[in-house]
Amino acid sequence: MESGRITREWLEGLDPAEFQEISAMLSDIQRERANTRRQKLERRRSAAREKSHNRRYLELERVKCGKKGCKKCASGERHGPYWYLYRPKENGPGRTSEYVGKVLPETLAEEFDIPEDQRPSN
Ligand SMILES: [Zn+2]
Repeated sequence: MESGRITREWLEGLDPAEFQEISAMLSDIQRERANTRRQKLERRRSAAREKSHNRRYLELERVKCGKKGCKKCASGERHGPYWYLYRPKENGPGRTSEYVGKVLPETLAEEFDIPEDQRPSN
């Protein structure tokens, strides 16, 4: 595609110094544009990471106690349910969980909008 302003003849008519200058400028521009693209990408990535720090959620779970000879676990009934607070790991993939307990503290219930009838108390 020729714009008409820059032609092959024009380029070939340049003296070697001008030609060098132009190609140096071109590679500078290309490098700067690549940098800008990379920076934009990094900004977007770190914004996504930032958001993920707040992606906590609550779950009510029945768990195995791990004790040998526990009849409850052997029967498949398990213990609980207990509340766990999950959060994404800060470095890398995956999530970590924090044991909350049988009773959900008021502060967490409010933060996560858990209705009262979904908060087993025993
Ligand atoms: Zn058990």
